[in-house]
Amino acid sequence: MIRPTRRTATDADFARRRLAQLAVLGLTAGAAPAALPGSASAATPSSVKAPSASRAHYDRARRLAADDPVLRALVTALTPGSGLPPLPARAPVKLFDNLVLLSAGWVSAMAVLTDDGIVLIDALTSPADAEGVIIPGLRAVGADPAAIRHVVVTHGHADHFGGAQTFADRYGARVHMSPADWDLLDRTRPADAPVRDLDIADGAQLTLGGTTIELHHTPGHTPGTVSPVIPVQAGRRHHSAMLWGGLNPPSTVAELRTFLASVHSFRAVMRRANVEVELSNHPNDHGLERAEQLRHQPPGAANPFLLGGPRTQRYMAVMDAMLRGRIADAEEAAGAAGTGAGARGAHTVAASHARC
Ligand SMILES: [Zn+2]
Ligand SMILES: [Zn+2]
Repeated sequence: MIRPTRRTATDADFARRRLAQLAVLGLTAGAAPAALPGSASAATPSSVKAPSASRAHYDRARRLAADDPVLRALVTALTPGSGLPPLPARAPVKLFDNLVLLSAGWVSAMAVLTDDGIVLIDALTSPADAEGVIIPGLRAVGADPAAIRHVVVTHGHADHFGGAQTFADRYGARVHMSPADWDLLDRTRPADAPVRDLDIADGAQLTLGGTTIELHHTPGHTPGTVSPVIPVQAGRRHHSAMLWGGLNPPSTVAELRTFLASVHSFRAVMRRANVEVELSNHPNDHGLERAEQLRHQPPGAANPFLLGGPRTQRYMAVMDAMLRGRIADAEEAAGAAGTGAGARGAHTVAASHARC
């Protein structure tokens, strides 16, 4: 069940200011761990201060992250009270020979280029984003948007499905989503929802032009969140990339436990697929900074998205530890609020904004 936070403008402003501060901290080399978000010394309102049961998990996540900017960004994103920065759209970047990042700033889509057309992973927030970001972005990198054959929607939130129907209507693209999130859209009937099309089964393989993308159910952020494993190429080198389909934690203990179980099952998938590349559909992984680095670095320099196997596994270990902290927070809040109001109390502490 989705429980959107109804923030006041003042709260939203505070969250943005705080995130800007955290981003600076997260990017500052050598910043003391004690100054990171979620620690006892961070200047946070009492409602989001980490209680003792969760602190050990958050501290472990920070130790795992150490000074790795990708992992530190993940810690920040999963710290209670954090939010997404309001960032402007930017020019597309080819992250690999066959993978294009199409970013509206605070949310991104990926285009997988194959010999027989394009698979789009997510479709940004709206038909306007389809027209204004994805279509011109593909043309800018020399790809033909009319070649979009499939749109894989990672989950049923508007910032991921908003542009999907544009590609179905204009180019005949098929739209894929998990049954649980098609059901979510059937229940909630949001604006710009795509017409129900193809179901994604857990572990499904989507093949186009000799490229096979694996689609795995990783429920938690929504009941039917899907995380792809994508083969990418850099010259003659081939790698396996993962994209975690929905990061922002849900509200209740039960939903958080589902999320944690998905982290575990997907880690096993990643090991089997020898995943070495980490991708995200929101800038919660130092991704936009890495994309800019890639855009400006000389040819042949190391690709900042190619983390290697151990570091991508450590990324998931950080996610695991942060989720355990969130579960401890939610359990503590539920206990403090009493059984009747437990869910509401957990929601306050989790400061969930699961709509993105
Ligand atoms: Zn989102
Ligand atoms: Zn979402």
